[in-house]
Amino acid sequence: MRRVALASGNPGKLRELAALLAPLSLSLIPQAGLGIAAVPETGETFLANALLKARHASARARLAALADDSGLEVDALGGRPGVESARYAHPGASDTENLERLLDELAAVPPPKRRARYQCVIVLVRGADDPQPLIARGSWEGHIATSPRGLGGFGYDPVFVPEGSARTAAELDPAEKNAVSHRGQALRELIAMLGQQGYIAAP
Ligand code: IMP
Repeated sequence: MRRVALASGNPGKLRELAALLAPLSLSLIPQAGLGIAAVPETGETFLANALLKARHASARARLAALADDSGLEVDALGGRPGVESARYAHPGASDTENLERLLDELAAVPPPKRRARYQCVIVLVRGADDPQPLIARGSWEGHIATSPRGLGGFGYDPVFVPEGSARTAAELDPAEKNAVSHRGQALRELIAMLGQQGYIAAP
């Protein structure tokens, strides 16, 4: 079984990635379990940050590494918080603090103008200097509710209402979210690439 370092410490992400990757012949090892600290996310795009995290984890672990960089883009805020989603309220902010800042900033914005989407870029590097990282993307459209609802998911899920849904992402069960989310889309694309390349048994 191939060992792959997982370049994230976000428990919500780890839960979702582990569920999606469970059927594969990969042994995923969260970087914290290998004594690897998070690298500062200094990139200006999701792709730049995902590559930074994957190469860092791969160099330290001397293993292939998988990284997810993701975030929420809100049209009324010109695409913010975007790559700053995890630290929107302030560096080290909790999910609740970030979500409250978002609701404050949108307080005067009426429902039709609260359009938003989650973006996710997942990369896999086979080594720290891998010249051809595998790159997969997903995007999940929706809008921002005026108050939080639901206990599932993580991050902005209690205020993110996916297009065509009456429920927030935090009111979906984990399998429902993974079936349609930005992360689910990106990971399914990555799994298909890994199968085509013979890295794992074709899914
Ligand atoms: P990253 O660790 O820099 O990729 O930050 C990702 C941040 O984007 C998370 O901390 C959340 O704030 C937000 N985010 C990404 N994906 C999701 C999701 O599926 N649900 C809720 N928030 C998410």
